Amino acid sequence: MSEILLKPSAAQPPFTEPHVAPRQWEYVRDALEQGALDGNGPYSRQAAAVVRRVTAAAEVLLTPSCTHALELSAIALDLEPGDEVIVPAFSYAPTAAAFALRGARLVFVDSHPDTLNVRADHIEAAVTDRTKAIVVLHYAGVPCEMDPIMDIARRHGLAVVEDSAQAFGSRYRGRPTGSFGRFAALSFHATKNVHCAKGGALLVNEPSDLDRAKTIQDRGTDRHLYFRGLVEEYQWVDLGSSYLLNEVLAALLAAQLETFDDVQARRARFWDGYDATLPEWAREHGVRTPHVPAHTTHSAHLYYLVLPTQDAKAGLLRHLADRGLTAAIHYLALHDSPAGRRFGREGPGGCAVAGDLPRRLVRLPMHAGMSDDYHRRVIDAITGFHP
Ligand SMILES: *Cc1c(COP(=O)(O)O)cnc(C)c1O
Repeated sequence: MSEILLKPSAAQPPFTEPHVAPRQWEYVRDALEQGALDGNGPYSRQAAAVVRRVTAAAEVLLTPSCTHALELSAIALDLEPGDEVIVPAFSYAPTAAAFALRGARLVFVDSHPDTLNVRADHIEAAVTDRTKAIVVLHYAGVPCEMDPIMDIARRHGLAVVEDSAQAFGSRYRGRPTGSFGRFAALSFHATKNVHCAKGGALLVNEPSDLDRAKTIQDRGTDRHLYFRGLVEEYQWVDLGSSYLLNEVLAALLAAQLETFDDVQARRARFWDGYDATLPEWAREHGVRTPHVPAHTTHSAHLYYLVLPTQDAKAGLLRHLADRGLTAAIHYLALHDSPAGRRFGREGPGGCAVAGDLPRRLVRLPMHAGMSDDYHRRVIDAITGFHP
């Protein structure tokens, strides 16, 4: 597995480190002392209000993970076996698995070589009379081309779900990612910009979906109506599961979100630092650096390089490891994975870019707490590598 993620030794600074917010200990302790631990308490409301402000989503439901939020959206879409869902070939497993769980057939579409985001023209070609939804991933927090994607969805009457796990705080033509689709899913996993160890959120952008989404989130019961005094007893009324973030983790999240602007500013500085120093070296050596379209802003979630060959990538990982530094690869394309072949097929046009580029992709160390010295060492090591 040494090629997957070269394990840090004592001498190696970590590839990523969970952000620590000054008040998180106090909030977690307070939440535990308050005793109402199930969720939807004061810290949940505080955290959800910030998420709503950043994303401009109509409603925010905090969930135990991004994966759970995607599953919740898949239940809410009433997918039936045989229905088709268009998903990006280049993404993390849950972007596809959440919909395969409902019995949908997946249709994988290719990426743009410049952003690795899904291609709108391939989406259009993949629509059939069984298609129910389009799922998109904003890779590295760089927004997908939402105008053409939403246009396709409107013309064919399809729901859009945004996997915004990496794109909390990104904007497309001035509008926050997560506010475009019928649903969007965020991740607050420890590897993300702000986190609660493991958590997420479902953004609900059509008010008519809200009651149903809350029912699914709370084990398929109408308990949320009971809490609002709208029914005298609550009961099992629909499909559902246990998709509510608990109040202890919500307290951790609320503290983290108080520091969101600071985290973003620090990450942006490291991202910009890579992007000011690496492209010249990259051009000389046939290496691609991230492309951020002019009409978008991104969340500074990750900085990556696409090497000219798989050998060059292995060489760079070794070169960094020899200098006490850690870099990481990212997920391989889904259409070509054992489960992807079982639960889906490639759309028209194939998935050549998604199949190839991730095999040559390396992510660079970046987190809000990294030192300038560490950042400099990574840049010096990379520009000293000649593939
Ligand atoms: C991190 C991530 C997820 C999973 O998030 P969890 O909160 O761990 O479920 C899903 N999709 C993408 C693209 C991610 O980066």
